[in-house]
Amino acid sequence: MACNACGQALADITPVDTTALRGIAQAFQAHCAACDQDTWAVRGEPAAVRAFYDALEKAAGQQVQLGKAGPASAA
Ligand SMILES: [Zn+2]
Repeated sequence: MACNACGQALADITPVDTTALRGIAQAFQAHCAACDQDTWAVRGEPAAVRAFYDALEKAAGQQVQLGKAGPASAA
């Protein structure tokens, strides 16, 4: 699994419980230390995967999969 934002290989991958998510077979979440972005990997029916990302974006209040944020300010 690689970071969606910078392509770094991600080591700290957290499986997400998808038993309640109809149409989702597997979901994983990982946080990239290199660029401070969360990357999600979701497998399942295309409509269910799209709905999953929509829900994530609503929960986060921003675009999740391909969202980009500037590097954190040192100040
Ligand atoms: Zn990254």
